Amino acid sequence: MSPAQGQFSPTAFIDNYLRHQYHVDEARERAERYAARPPRENPDAIRFWPSQASIVLPQPGGLPTRVFGNCHRKSYWALLGEAPSNPVEPKGTRKMLAGGVLEDQESDLAEKAGLKVERQVKFEYQMGPEVLVSGKVDLIVWPPDVMHRVGVEYKSGYGYYFSQQVIGNSKHVGKPKVENVLQVMLYLDALRDIPYFVMPYIDRGEMDWKEHIVSLSAASNMIHRLAIINGMPNQDMNLAAIYRRYRQLAEYVATKTLPDRDYELQYDSAKVDRLHSAGLLSKSKYEKHQQGKVVGDWECAYCPFRAKCWGK
Ligand code: SF4
Repeated sequence: MSPAQGQFSPTAFIDNYLRHQYHVDEARERAERYAARPPRENPDAIRFWPSQASIVLPQPGGLPTRVFGNCHRKSYWALLGEAPSNPVEPKGTRKMLAGGVLEDQESDLAEKAGLKVERQVKFEYQMGPEVLVSGKVDLIVWPPDVMHRVGVEYKSGYGYYFSQQVIGNSKHVGKPKVENVLQVMLYLDALRDIPYFVMPYIDRGEMDWKEHIVSLSAASNMIHRLAIINGMPNQDMNLAAIYRRYRQLAEYVATKTLPDRDYELQYDSAKVDRLHSAGLLSKSKYEKHQQGKVVGDWECAYCPFRAKCWGK
């Protein structure tokens, strides 16, 4: 809501900061932190974030395989320092920061409750000559009477999809999001003394929660280790497939080749029907399409390079 004339609005003041300066400050601080790091063993390797992980997975209903996780084209522009054509709106930045506040709160409470904890644990992991993955784990805990550490990766969300698909209910078994599982698989590969990660998903509206457990299968060839999600091995989600996508991205960046789009801003009617028949499109999105509204991948809808990518 706009403030009345002459009345000061602290929220609008902060909005202005979030829109014009917050991301500039963030980028500068990140660059300063990088500059202060010790030299790398392999200076040619490109540094990736775990959140830039992606994988190609089969889909049900005879649909073609598709990418899950970060879009190569989006990562490519971000890695080359391109200015976003669609900067994140203050509302989006607030949502992201609210997630971080909740993670901090849970970590504080874990510590107060008496768990021995390590917070914001940094790691760097060289995967072949081209790829260096570096990141930070939210929390590592030492449970009482257990002889090993346990990783904890907090995630939070809200809304019908989150509560039904991720937390779950009497009709749907909740599942962790694929992109979050990829991230945790990388943590497990880098921190090999940790046998499993707990992923507490918290509903920011209701404060309901659900924990999913992710580990990696043992394998003679370490990079082919599979994700084991809540005790079930997933044959298609393995470390080799994730690193293959990172290496492709490194190749695009090294050769300055613009990658193909991994997602679609707007589905055509045939795709909407196929997804709907396979149960992969929500009722509300299907109805939106029937009303002539744009329905596509959320990755494009929230992408900071949307206009640059699609020309609209
Ligand atoms: S708009 Fe979509 S396809 Fe284009 S870079 Fe962003 S996520 Fe990728």
